[in-house]
Amino acid sequence: MKVLKFGGTSVGTVEALRNVKHIVEHQEEPVIVVVSALGGLTDTLIKAANMAAKNDIAAYRIVQDVTTRHSDIMNTLIDGDKIDDALNRVRALFYELSNAYTDISQSEELTESDIEEVVSYGERLSSLIISQIIDNATHFNSLEIIRSNDHKCDIQATNAAIAKTLGVFKGKVAVMGGFISRDSKSRRISNLGRGGSDYTAAIVASAINASSLEIWTDVDGFMTADPKVDPNATVIKQMTYAQAQEMCDKGAKVIYAPTIKPMAEKHIPVWVKNTFNRSALGTLITD
Ligand code: ASP
Ligand code: MG
Repeated sequence: MKVLKFGGTSVGTVEALRNVKHIVEHQEEPVIVVVSALGGLTDTLIKAANMAAKNDIAAYRIVQDVTTRHSDIMNTLIDGDKIDDALNRVRALFYELSNAYTDISQSEELTESDIEEVVSYGERLSSLIISQIIDNATHFNSLEIIRSNDHKCDIQATNAAIAKTLGVFKGKVAVMGGFISRDSKSRRISNLGRGGSDYTAAIVASAINASSLEIWTDVDGFMTADPKVDPNATVIKQMTYAQAQEMCDKGAKVIYAPTIKPMAEKHIPVWVKNTFNRSALGTLITD
């Protein structure tokens, strides 16, 4: 079984999602698909929380836009005979999201926990919607699987939950949200830090001993230099875990830095690939 992770730009538009659908439906072996929130959405949800805390009515306009953005994608990509059922499954999340903002505007202060709750809707919505866009896919709720302590993965509790869910999954495609988690102590909704969806994918890949992890993003792979600065920068075809770790630690934004270690420990090959340029080979990270 492979793990495929798609980032925000890869799931941010109808066109991008058509690519995702194509990539996933053409896999030969069963896959676990980990997705980010629609591109830019996490920032938008945080911005709206700050507005709601100031009782700025514009927060509700943003919530309305968020609802419309997701509904439009569903209406375009989900077949007519399935759309009503699909919208019914998502509607509860739209409703809860709107209520979460009402709670924020009625309370005296905006807490870290309030923010963690509202941003979680990004990946909860994207994963549920994408599981309905991809043929024969089953949705898994990351809040019931990924556990954390102070934004770090609670590996023991998480691995136990994966063993009972994804570990016994016999279908072709499982879809789950990246980034989000439930705190083991407080039981509140939390997350693995900004950019954490890559790390969710690595946690799952490690737990199930995946044959590989593919990080699908919007660039062709790790580059020899920043292409915005150096026009002669080229894609690095192959690198070691240590080299990838060093580049991530130095600020390369291709992969969230904590992702590499669990893959190195289990010797699981990591591919970085471009959702918008599927035929490009990408970067392969191995021993
Ligand atoms: N949606 C989250 C973020 O924007 C996590 C991720 O995309 O990896 O940081
Ligand atoms: Mg990322």
